[in-house]
Amino acid sequence: MSGRRIRLAWNPDYCRHCFGCTAMCQRGALTVDHERGTLRYDIRLCIRCGSCIRACPTGAMHAEAEQPSENA
Ligand code: SF4
Ligand code: SF4
Repeated sequence: MSGRRIRLAWNPDYCRHCFGCTAMCQRGALTVDHERGTLRYDIRLCIRCGSCIRACPTGAMHAEAEQPSENA
């Protein structure tokens, strides 16, 4: 995941809530929101390593090109 800047994207329609992605995040950027039973993402902590994307069995977690106006 180098070169062009990317940001994480999540498609809830494909998510099985297995939380394998959060288990793979070593930075605490992706965690479980237990109250809502969903994911919480903190872009400030994300190093864009791609581990969560590789851990996702359904393709719900994926990468999209970051728009020029978006801040890292
Ligand atoms: S890309 Fe890496 S740092 Fe960012 S949320 Fe996924 S596993 Fe965590
Ligand atoms: S690994 Fe994929 S299917 Fe599992 S909780 Fe994360 S986004 Fe959803």
